[in-house]
Amino acid sequence: AVIKKVKFIKSAVNPKDYPPPHFPEIAIVGRSNVGKSSLINAIFKRNIAKVSSSPGKTRLINFFLLNDKIYFVDLPGYGYAAVSKAERNKWKKMIETYFHTRENLSLVIMLVDSRHQPTKLDIMMKEWLESLGIPYIVVATKADKLNQSEKAKTKKIIRETLGLPKDFPVFLTSSKEGTGIKELVSYILDFVSK
Ligand code: GDP
Repeated sequence: AVIKKVKFIKSAVNPKDYPPPHFPEIAIVGRSNVGKSSLINAIFKRNIAKVSSSPGKTRLINFFLLNDKIYFVDLPGYGYAAVSKAERNKWKKMIETYFHTRENLSLVIMLVDSRHQPTKLDIMMKEWLESLGIPYIVVATKADKLNQSEKAKTKKIIRETLGLPKDFPVFLTSSKEGTGIKELVSYILDFVSK
């Protein structure tokens, strides 16, 4: 399973502007600065996430099409300190609407920073996904910043903090060194093709 083709489709806020739900969809979400754009670029092997990080587009839902048959959705990050309460509420409403209405959503990739224990907001995101019955996996970013013994412990700490079973899919990745990217891509493409 490989990504041969990536196409930016559009940005949207409201369901009426989402592309028609003709394909299974994978969405990626995480705290601001967790390494989402870098991971998207590593997954796609090109610098495509700049579309979402260009000024004015950061608070939008960005839709990409993979191999002409899977939507990949970049959701705006949460937990950015310098954001007003009104902005936060707008984010919540936008994501809530997306989660509640997107019938073709097959899988959410939830990012956490491998250097830190998952935050309170990460735990809330996990609980939110679970309460809505949305399938998800956890991907820990920036693994190149860990030493061997930290690497060995990280998945366990993440599972424990988020209250996940021992065998729950947690991927340890580094966008900088490319670690874990192939395994992640295989998993998500297989997951939506089943
Ligand atoms: P986003 O806000 O979640 O989209 O995060 P970015 O992808 O913009 O990354 C935030 C910061 O983390 C940047 O300074 C990146 O260079 C850094 N970063 C992202 N991924 C990695 C990684 O795999 N390894 C290391 N060492 N730094 C990373």
